[in-house]
Amino acid sequence: MSTTIIGFPRLGEFRELKFTTEKYFRKEISEEELLAAAKDLRAKHWNIVKEKGITEIPSNDFSHYDNFLDAAFLFNVVPASVQNLDLSDLERYFALGRGYQGEKGDVRALPMKKWFNTNYHYIVPKFEKDTQVKLAGHKIFDEFQEAKELGLNTRPVLVGPFTFLQLSDFEEGVKAEDFVDSLVAAYQEVFAKLAELGATRIQLDEAALVKDLTAEEKALFLNLYNKLLADKKGLEVLLQTYFGDVRDVYADLVNLPVDAIGLDFVEGKKTLELVKAGFPADKTLYAGIVNGKNIWRNNYEKSLAVLEQIPAENIVLTSSCSLLHVPFTTANEEFEPAILNHFAFAVEKLDEIRDLDAIRNGQGEAALAANKELFATERVGENAELRARIAGLTDADYTRLPAFAEREAIQEEAFKLPALPTTTIGSFPQTKEVRAKRLAYRKGELSQEEYDAFLAETIDEWIKWQEDIDFDVLVHGEFERNDMVEYFGQNLSGYLFSKNGWVQSYGMRGVKPPIIWGDVTRLNPITVKWSSYAQSRTNKPVKGMLTGPVTILNWSFPREDISIKDSTLQIALAIKDEVLDLEAAGVKIIQIDEAALREKLPLRRSDWYEDYLDWAIPAFRLVHSTVAPDTQIHTHMCYSEFTDIIPAIDNMDADVISFEASRSNLEILDELKAKNFQTEVGPGVYDIHSPRVPNEGEIDNTIEAILAKVPSKKVWINPDCGLKTRGIPETKESLIRLVEAAKAAREKL
Ligand code: GLN
Ligand code: ZN
Repeated sequence: MSTTIIGFPRLGEFRELKFTTEKYFRKEISEEELLAAAKDLRAKHWNIVKEKGITEIPSNDFSHYDNFLDAAFLFNVVPASVQNLDLSDLERYFALGRGYQGEKGDVRALPMKKWFNTNYHYIVPKFEKDTQVKLAGHKIFDEFQEAKELGLNTRPVLVGPFTFLQLSDFEEGVKAEDFVDSLVAAYQEVFAKLAELGATRIQLDEAALVKDLTAEEKALFLNLYNKLLADKKGLEVLLQTYFGDVRDVYADLVNLPVDAIGLDFVEGKKTLELVKAGFPADKTLYAGIVNGKNIWRNNYEKSLAVLEQIPAENIVLTSSCSLLHVPFTTANEEFEPAILNHFAFAVEKLDEIRDLDAIRNGQGEAALAANKELFATERVGENAELRARIAGLTDADYTRLPAFAEREAIQEEAFKLPALPTTTIGSFPQTKEVRAKRLAYRKGELSQEEYDAFLAETIDEWIKWQEDIDFDVLVHGEFERNDMVEYFGQNLSGYLFSKNGWVQSYGMRGVKPPIIWGDVTRLNPITVKWSSYAQSRTNKPVKGMLTGPVTILNWSFPREDISIKDSTLQIALAIKDEVLDLEAAGVKIIQIDEAALREKLPLRRSDWYEDYLDWAIPAFRLVHSTVAPDTQIHTHMCYSEFTDIIPAIDNMDADVISFEASRSNLEILDELKAKNFQTEVGPGVYDIHSPRVPNEGEIDNTIEAILAKVPSKKVWINPDCGLKTRGIPETKESLIRLVEAAKAAREKL
């Protein structure tokens, strides 16, 4: 009887770690106080896991910021600029994560990237020419000891060497292979020290193995592990994978002298097939069977049916990935029991893993019966009308007519915009005042009339300002919105919102994804009021502003009883109704944001189209397919990492797309040119993610670089994302520069 989890949430039941850490950042508490609070939290979490009857408890899954950054620290992969700062270890650690600006120096934070296909971001370490990889940290040992003092023999968790190298950056002139030997030696030192402290087994997380691997990458993996496992220093090694299957290396994995292999039976499409072909009798299989990414109860019968087919002799039941990606507990939620019963957050998933193990051992009859009953009763009814609407969709519903080229000509006539038209991405600064008013309104301290008056006044000011500085396409500013998904979810049927369902996103920050509970329809018009109000205040076109179906889905917890594709189509129809209402209300330019479209692109290239783009792109087209030819559809995507899927982006058939290219040095422009991109483009002429105002001439140069690659007829001039996180002064200064630069460029055409 063995059960475990890959990792546990770190922020705490009520995000205690976040609030304590922020106090420390504000210098309200000392380093010692922060460390003590973190220690208490770890003890609390270990105890929860233990009390739930989980037999193997992980340690070092805790982190003050990010576990990838922890590994970089442990192995001394710290840029010289930070090494040299005269600061405490913890201060230097945070300097890497968030930058440091003070009397002792000035260093920038390391970049962050999305952790595989999750909304968690890891800090990207950088190997430099003089990086000396060696064992330099002690967190992993301290936490093992700490647990030991509580009477727990934990299994320390560490990013594996392959994933560590695969996901790091390398300075020009160095490459992963250069660090193999020093890294192996450092890992072996960790093994030796843990063994000395009394540890039995270490967990090395190797999620990078679930991606498509080239021959070189496979060779790197084998090289690392052959060397590493040649001397395990008396420790047992669990090689843990998640977020997919390991088809490229399974045959090698089972032959490596590891003691245990962890595989994902939830997201790994081929995992069962691989294992059925044979699993070595001398190794333990850690079977990830409880979904670590979604919030629904596990269906025991289904899980047991999978487990029964596994030929391995020694099985430990575990989560499909770290429980870091789900909220802490359902215990503090206020849903009625009939709803709450369907949810399992991290703590409840511990029960599920233990139940499944008990059932397999012939002891969990009551749990199995209750679970069967839960899944046997109908959870939500279907919306028959909506289902019929979807069933009745034909190719024509996904096709906008006339075709792009003809529309482009019609719209040129209709809008008579100057060359290189200027616009913004939608939001203007969400100042303290804006947020305070919204809060007061929500609490009932501000009446509807008062709140509306405030919004109208704010919109008026910004419309006037945009006219004054001579923008071509204006926006209303999104002052009424909290967030680009929740705001829409609140106006859709089928959505639920948790009180405390926070999931760590980056650093100490969390997001609270809404839950798609049932069939989704639009309850009422959502944006029409303020978009049409804004349009009524000016003769220039005002862009309506919506969130697209793929982004709404990707930033929610999706249903498991219908496909993600079907849920997205439902949302698409709801947003389509909104588009048509906006159009009818006289809003002739409508932006449908797909900020998160790139995010859920499957990890394996072979799955990109079939599993995702083949329905995600049509879902977007469904939203706008029936607008008039002279209604202009814009879309916006964050990140320009879509170089590989440019034809799919063109296939969204929007009239204009804006995206974040300013940080990637506009590399994507070459690809747009090579692929003969049709859609008009606003590549983003300055980076809004920092308060920095572009220098005189800077935007001019960027525009010049864009015009060298894209025909001027296709180019729009805009910032690279929404401005809601910026302050007013820098926003205004930057936008004035932007309009001036666009005008100057226009002159030169
Ligand atoms: N329209 C949104 C805004 O400007 C887009 C936000 C985003 O891309 N993340 O805020
Ligand atoms: Zn954006």
